[in-house]
Amino acid sequence: MKSQTDRTEPQDNTRKQTAIDAVLTAIQLCEKVQAEMVLTDAIQKPDQSPVTVADFGSQALICKAINEVFPYDTIVAEESAQTLQENAPLLERVADYVNRFSEDTEATTETISEWINNGSGEVGPSFWTLDPIDGTKGFLRHDQYAIALAYIVDGVVQLGVLGCPNLPYHLDATDAERGCLFVAIRGEGTHLYTKTGEFLEQVYISETVHRFAESVESTHGDSEAHANIANVLGITEPPVQMDSQAKYGIVSRGEASLYIRLPNPAYPDYRECIWDHAAGMIVVEEAGGTVTDANGAPLNFLTGKRMHENRGIVATNGKLHQHVLKALSHR
Ligand code: AMP
Ligand code: MG
Repeated sequence: MKSQTDRTEPQDNTRKQTAIDAVLTAIQLCEKVQAEMVLTDAIQKPDQSPVTVADFGSQALICKAINEVFPYDTIVAEESAQTLQENAPLLERVADYVNRFSEDTEATTETISEWINNGSGEVGPSFWTLDPIDGTKGFLRHDQYAIALAYIVDGVVQLGVLGCPNLPYHLDATDAERGCLFVAIRGEGTHLYTKTGEFLEQVYISETVHRFAESVESTHGDSEAHANIANVLGITEPPVQMDSQAKYGIVSRGEASLYIRLPNPAYPDYRECIWDHAAGMIVVEEAGGTVTDANGAPLNFLTGKRMHENRGIVATNGKLHQHVLKALSHR
């Protein structure tokens, strides 16, 4: 084991490139699994949410890629190999896909479990947070999903990489090509790439588009309240209902002026997970937008895996932000 004083850290640009390359590879794995998926490739977690071969495979590849270059980095990721312990056939499937997309010689199922478990770090002074597939329900419906990776230092998100394999280059162009990668660096803007890593453009919020985004899943928000707020704001267009942090992506590109996620009244104790928002938040902020919770409080990524001090999410083009918070405070 190397001592702390032996630490020689590669440049921060290496962190960005490592994250981009890892997410691009995970996109390939997810698309392959989606194309070949069999019924037993998806199971229910104890909390009844679905998880698939692709979630585990994506987490294994990304954790491995980060740990190869930054062996001291902490990763706080959604999945754990524990779920696979009693399911040898599923672990074999995961290993099969990971080995197809990993440049190494065949890794054993034990090694792959270790890579997955490298994501079981704790929140601290600096850490990565990863959702290997955000919007697994969208993934299963062949709809929107995202691979979301962020790097956080002293509670501030410094880097966000958001892979959206099914997101069209332009939301409203029905024949547009699909597969987007948003890359945001603190102070350097948000840049859009294709899912094969070709640069498309720097993206910016819009102050003229008047449309809002919310989850497809009615239990993940309060769609009635969202509609009321939209009404107060004079938004007349129907909402864009979309799974995953792709919603932050469309706000960052100026295709929606608001992403709203109010707590569902049936789940008053639900607290948002850090990996569901960290990458998306910096993507919107660096494109010129604003992200807070529904009370206007900054998102606090230091309270653990869940944001215990925050309630709901409001992501806007900035211009609309105070208007949304005011409408919320008058409810
Ligand atoms: P979305 O696709 O925007 O609905 O986000 C998917 C995420 O919603 C999942 O990764 C879950 O972590 C999260 N989720 C699950 N239950 C709830 C809930 N009751 N309220 C808000 N988010 C939830
Ligand atoms: Mg998620």
